[in-house]
Amino acid sequence: MSIPMQRLPEQQPSVWQPASVKEAIQLQKQWGDAAVVVAGGTWLRTRWENGVSAVPQHLISLGRIPALKSLSMDERRVVLKDGEHELMGPLYIRYGPLLSLSAVMTSELTREHAPLLLQACAEVAAPSIRNMATIGGNVMTRTGDLIPALLVLDAQVVLSDGGQERKLSLQAWLAATADPSEIMTGILLPLQATTGESKSCQFYLKAGRREAFTPSVVTVAGELTFQPDGTIASAKLAAGGGTAIPARLTQAEALLTGQPLSKALLKKLHSVAYEQCAAVPDDYAGIAYRKTTAANLIVSECYKAWRGSKGGGADAPES
Ligand SMILES: Cc1cc2nc3c(=O)[nH]c(=O)nc-3n(C[C@H](O)[C@H](O)[C@H](O)COP(=O)(O)OP(=O)(O)OC[C@H]3O[C@@H](n4cnc5c(N)ncnc54)[C@H](O)[C@@H]3O)c2cc1C
Repeated sequence: MSIPMQRLPEQQPSVWQPASVKEAIQLQKQWGDAAVVVAGGTWLRTRWENGVSAVPQHLISLGRIPALKSLSMDERRVVLKDGEHELMGPLYIRYGPLLSLSAVMTSELTREHAPLLLQACAEVAAPSIRNMATIGGNVMTRTGDLIPALLVLDAQVVLSDGGQERKLSLQAWLAATADPSEIMTGILLPLQATTGESKSCQFYLKAGRREAFTPSVVTVAGELTFQPDGTIASAKLAAGGGTAIPARLTQAEALLTGQPLSKALLKKLHSVAYEQCAAVPDDYAGIAYRKTTAANLIVSECYKAWRGSKGGGADAPES
């Protein structure tokens, strides 16, 4: 039976399945702009379906590179740099970028050491998508909902050009222009050392246009550490959402550090967070709406963290 012309399938892309990062990078160099690296393909697919970008001629699937799916606790990982070996520091969890969000969520390491990341993963899409969507793909979009949580956890990214690996903080990588010829080979989470009697509280909140299974309008994450007398010993705050590139709110962090919580401080925090958080408008939510939402969430979560540090008492901070 003949197929009507208009129903003939469009030309399908070639799918390449390299067995190593080196081979993947060689293919990328060979095909240039005509190729795209694919992990789970869930983000790319939405872009092709919505006409944001065209299906490329060549897809370079990372799915057959086992090293990219590993998950380990590295005490002293040695990497090759300029022909020499380098120690990477004390204790990290190293996530292979090809781990699905479901795998990240069910891992004992995440459950024990990175509950904030677990919470962030649970806010992405639905379980069926999370079985395919990867942690590396989420970060490489530069707008994924995991990023604010990873920023607060001081994550580092490991990138390869096919020969050498380089490692830099996620924050620095986001602030620079992405190099499309590099492949991400790891996400490192330094394990936090507990400090004496101080008490840490973390939060992660995603606000969308409906309760669940929704793209974020604003995503915030934070970690506050309190001294026994209630003074904020350290503050880590990050915000993103929509197509804005998430970032740490360094000015808001500096404002809080070393201060006792007060109504005046929370008020100042609102205006500093509003000024510093990035927002990109769309047809549904403008810049002011997104910034106000981010500032509101940060202030209310900091207040809740302070209350939590005092055992949940209902007293309000002094003015
Ligand atoms: C219905 C639906 C709902 C969604 N909801 C959310 C949501 O709530 N929050 C959210 O953050 N996202 C959401 N997404 C987007 C997407 O599922 C996630 O961001 C996901 O984690 C992306 O991972 P992936 O493996 O599918 O990436 P892919 O689509 O395979 O790749 C994403 C980008 O990263 C690049 N890339 C991937 N891996 C590497 C690597 N190792 N090195 C270099 N480049 C790489 C690709 O070239 C591409 O540019 C949703 C998607 C769908 C279809």
